[in-house]
Amino acid sequence: MKKYDERETLFARVHLKKDSEEYKTFYKNNPTYKQKDDKVRGVSFRNKIKKSDKYKELFLPLNSPNKPLIKSVFLTAKDYKVNPNRVAVPKGFSKNIKEITKYFGATDVGIVKLNDHHYYSHFGGLNETVGIKNYNEEVKKVYKTAIVFTVKMDLDMMNRAPHFEELLATEDAYLDVAYIGAKLEMYLKEIGYKSQSQNGEYYLTPQVPLAVDAGLGEIGMANHLVTKEFGNNVRLGSVLTTLELDYDQPIDYGLQDFCKKCALCLMNCPSKAITHKTREVNGRTWYKFDDNKCYEVWTKMGTDCGTCIQACPFTQIIDLNLVNKMKNNEEIMDQIMKEHFEKFGRRNYIKNDLPIVSFKEDNDDRD
Ligand code: SF4
Ligand code: SF4
Repeated sequence: MKKYDERETLFARVHLKKDSEEYKTFYKNNPTYKQKDDKVRGVSFRNKIKKSDKYKELFLPLNSPNKPLIKSVFLTAKDYKVNPNRVAVPKGFSKNIKEITKYFGATDVGIVKLNDHHYYSHFGGLNETVGIKNYNEEVKKVYKTAIVFTVKMDLDMMNRAPHFEELLATEDAYLDVAYIGAKLEMYLKEIGYKSQSQNGEYYLTPQVPLAVDAGLGEIGMANHLVTKEFGNNVRLGSVLTTLELDYDQPIDYGLQDFCKKCALCLMNCPSKAITHKTREVNGRTWYKFDDNKCYEVWTKMGTDCGTCIQACPFTQIIDLNLVNKMKNNEEIMDQIMKEHFEKFGRRNYIKNDLPIVSFKEDNDDRD
């Protein structure tokens, strides 16, 4: 089975400092990425938002607390000691673990037995935000189980994609993921099991394959997890642990056939990063995707875009009775698409600002 390498992910690649030893080695081994990566290296998409200076002064700092807070909860959980007096867990405790994770704030939860291929082969150096330097280090398999969860994002904000409200929604969900993961990690340590939360700043495993194996959804055309209830309008978190539990299985609710009919993420994508061409990795079907094209658009828009999330009919909520009956049923799939088009057209884009970021430009400044 193929192991993913975090060093090959876009964020790890563009994080490399030009002409550093790591940079030279990586692009010597992977020359095809170099030219495209150099185009966006060192470019922060956040500063590129096309808004007035006043808008930027007032609203860009809304995201400023998130990274320090994530670091703080991550390190608090990391430093929390494992209780040496381990509590034996009764049979069927998986149900409780799921309810506990929801109680901490998760939308949905699944549990996976970890295999070697779930782990990255090497760290990509993205953990500097939480103070860990580990570029090139091999990722060691330590844990037996992954408790994987989704956190639903604010739909009203996501429907403003690609405007600033979309970035607020995604970054808030990353913070929620960090809090939920840290709480679960500390709880599991308190009952005597070594555990490690994964959030936007620290991963030992890629998240989407875990979420698929946890039965939380299927892979859609934009390579996101698409859940039956909230589409790809979710962020993913997980806690890896030595506690053994009952494990979930992947689900198949017919998304692959539905995507062939739909392709709305592809049609609405401003960068043409999404394609309908598939590739198989470890028995899962993914879609060929150009991450450089996607990121280039972010650096022009000043947000992380999110149009593919908003455009997905599942994000806009489909009657679950229909979703549960759509597998191998063209008629129901057509009905879902028809109703979606009647209600939202190609996408449910809402142009006007939400009150949180709407203001009059000509207001007198107040102290
Ligand atoms: S985030 Fe935007 S540019 Fe990137 S794949 Fe989605 S729709 Fe396309
Ligand atoms: S927008 Fe359509 S094609 Fe894209 S992931 Fe959602 S259902 Fe699949």
